[in-house]
Amino acid sequence: MNKLITSRRPTRLHRWIAFGLALSIGMLVAAVLPYAGEMLPACTAFVPIFCTAVVLTEAVTSLLMWVRYRMGKSPIDAALSAAYAFSSLTCAIQLLIFPGVFSPTGLLGAGKQSAVWIWVLWHGGFPTLVLLGFAANWLAQSRFLFRLKHARWLILLALAGSVTGCVIAVRFSDALPMLIKGGSYSQLRHSPFAFYVVIVSVAALAAQLASGRLRSVLDVWLTIALLAFIADVTLTLAGSARFTLGWYGARVASVIASSALLAALLVEISMLYSRLARINEDLEEKANRDALTGLYNRGWFDMAYARECLVARHQEQPLSVLMVDVDCFKLFNDTYGHAAGDECLRLVANALQGCLRRQGDAVSRYGGEEFVVLLPGCATSSAVSIAEAMRSAVRKLDIPAKSPAGRVTISLGVFTCEAGKPQADDPLQCADANLYRAKAAGRDRVVAGRSAKGRGAGAIGQGALAR
Ligand code: GH3
Ligand code: MG
Ligand code: MG
Repeated sequence: MNKLITSRRPTRLHRWIAFGLALSIGMLVAAVLPYAGEMLPACTAFVPIFCTAVVLTEAVTSLLMWVRYRMGKSPIDAALSAAYAFSSLTCAIQLLIFPGVFSPTGLLGAGKQSAVWIWVLWHGGFPTLVLLGFAANWLAQSRFLFRLKHARWLILLALAGSVTGCVIAVRFSDALPMLIKGGSYSQLRHSPFAFYVVIVSVAALAAQLASGRLRSVLDVWLTIALLAFIADVTLTLAGSARFTLGWYGARVASVIASSALLAALLVEISMLYSRLARINEDLEEKANRDALTGLYNRGWFDMAYARECLVARHQEQPLSVLMVDVDCFKLFNDTYGHAAGDECLRLVANALQGCLRRQGDAVSRYGGEEFVVLLPGCATSSAVSIAEAMRSAVRKLDIPAKSPAGRVTISLGVFTCEAGKPQADDPLQCADANLYRAKAAGRDRVVAGRSAKGRGAGAIGQGALAR
């Protein structure tokens, strides 16, 4: 099973949601494109809101893709992490220099066409980095045996590229080819830079479709992100000026592009959390169980016993403990072999378990052919009747044995810590002492009541109790 949920095949629901989103993006472009140049009111708060959303979502996406890269070592994940880091930083710088946000002309001494050039850098750099990821992946899978050993350099390179490009766009924008004229950037549309941005965006989508073929959840959401990215580029170029319908529509597409992958990764994380919790529960359950009988094991019993002793004392409730031992089991093994002995232990364990009455009652394998039963809130009389029920349930199994009874039997020592009475002896030791008394009295019987002192003394009749 693949450990990454986004690497699994998309479900029908995934495909439908993605199809719906792709359709919405297509409809957005179709609706906006004919009126893309229409001027709308300049909403100055829109730019900082939009940029902050993009900077944050892309920074988180970059981080999560990096974590994904560390788990799977796929060059595409490293390249996507670098691409989103690049995009986030470039958008943050765009926010600082954007005219009218922090100052009328933008911070850092930005020129008139700095924002347009940063847009070119941003929208040309992101798909270029995605394409580099596909190229690195192709090289890694081909006979060139290329290995992306220092993926963190890719991120540093992307960030350095963003800073260098932005410095050039801010400091030397006047030396760069003119893309803006009278508040319109329509010249950008006919420049080779726009051509590069469009070509590289379409190439990234084509490479994604060709290499991923929508086989995994990540493929599906990366396709949506790249589709929204192309919509962003198309509407920005068609808008030709800030605050046109095309320009606003492009920003909406840009938010979809930046959040599509993040949504998939966040769903992956929440599913991983719930899977982790389930696995943890399973592991805990397995760690508490005895492999042969499926009963609770000694480790679980030690904890439960300490807990129940405390609860009984604080709540002034009785607590009964039963020590159970299979009679003459060595002889059984010697006669029928250890495999038959194991099967016998399983049957005895089942029979003991079947005699429990209340939710808190528990039978554990104490060790070898010994079992221990914890009965919280159970008085002596009920504990003895449960012990007798267990003894007769094992007898009823009618497993042949070379013992005096001619079948497998058990002996039980019972001890009850009475409610509200301070106990000098350990109930477990007292139950164990009673078990020895049952053995000494001839086996296949229940002995209850006495304290640990005088262990082994006094024989008790079959099925009788000593109080
Ligand atoms: P008593 O009636 O006095 O209890 O005699 P006993 O033979 O049952 O007691 P003893 O302690 O001499 O022997 C216990 C045997 O239980 C020895 C060991 O081979 C067997 N035994 C312990 N654990 C397992 C197990 O997991 N599988 C099998 N088949 N036998 C086990
Ligand atoms: Mg035994
Ligand atoms: Mg024993």
